Amino acid sequence: MTEEKIIGWKSLSINDLPKPLHQLSGDEIQRRKCISKVMTFVLKYFTKEFVNRGFEWLLPVIFSASTDPLWPDPGASIEKRIEVEIYGKKVRATLSMIVHKIMACSLIHPKLFTLSPNVRIERRDRALTGVHAYEFTQLDFEARNASSSDIRSLVEDLFVGLMKELKKFMRDELVYLDRYSCLQIPNPPFKVLNRVELEEKYGGEWDKQLPLEISEPVWVVNIPREFYDFEDFENNYWDNYDLLLPGYGEVLSGAKREWEYSKIIIKMERDHVRKENYSTLLKLAKEKRIKPSAGAGIGLERLVSWIVGAKHIGETQLFPRVPGIVYEL
Ligand code: AMP
Ligand code: MG
Repeated sequence: MTEEKIIGWKSLSINDLPKPLHQLSGDEIQRRKCISKVMTFVLKYFTKEFVNRGFEWLLPVIFSASTDPLWPDPGASIEKRIEVEIYGKKVRATLSMIVHKIMACSLIHPKLFTLSPNVRIERRDRALTGVHAYEFTQLDFEARNASSSDIRSLVEDLFVGLMKELKKFMRDELVYLDRYSCLQIPNPPFKVLNRVELEEKYGGEWDKQLPLEISEPVWVVNIPREFYDFEDFENNYWDNYDLLLPGYGEVLSGAKREWEYSKIIIKMERDHVRKENYSTLLKLAKEKRIKPSAGAGIGLERLVSWIVGAKHIGETQLFPRVPGIVYEL
């Protein structure tokens, strides 16, 4: 990969920020058309694959009292949380559908996925990282009784299939975007690296350094974060995983989940997460109605950014959601 192809967590300049649709030149419109075609293809591929593999397709929710606390997560940097009152109750815009996924997977559908809206008002200094939007979509999925390695194998399989099909059916678009020859079909199983060793090698910025040195996707495991990721209290090992793509960085986070009431309570208290926002989840966990599961969320705009070689993630959104910039549309 050449220097210009190295994207992700790059410090961009103001001129690299995506413009609103009506200000694009003819060439820029042409490029956006190609990017949209790739997005359509990726959506078609994943939805078809998940449905064919027996996953139920849930429609998204936008406002709930209970949403992802996004805390503590070393990668999170939310400037503001959207809370509004409806019918006399305080609700929050979806930060991720993790709570809904765990509940639905436990109570009704052993395998499910959704195209989940995520409203995360990222700090405005993240405008120039190129990988943060303040609204984006996760392809979020969960499977009852699955292990982390089951989910990693599923993702590897989907990823290889996606790259093969893209090269076959999106050839013209990828050639136009100058990405056809850069994109290689990866070879599973992907390497699994432990975050502790990466910190020893690269320090705290491992998530930005490592992607510049890899030529295949890699998994990073054992990352301390929110209460719902499974933590082994005996050895402090977090049974979770991120997928990092070469030259780009994180596109997926996932985990085996906590299901036991006593552990969830300990973690919420330790992290100062407001238990009152999770009373239904806690009640069900206490009644042993929350089942073990594992899953993940793929950031669709990030994945497509990497595929098309976008400078800024907002190029994959016809109506860009750039932190700190609010366009009329
Ligand atoms: P998380 O569970 O918070 O890591 O989010 C899951 C995935 O969503 C990440 O791996 C990214 O691909 C994507 N993502 C997270 N935050 C953003 C953001 N601000 N803009 C775009 N995509 C994001
Ligand atoms: Mg993450």
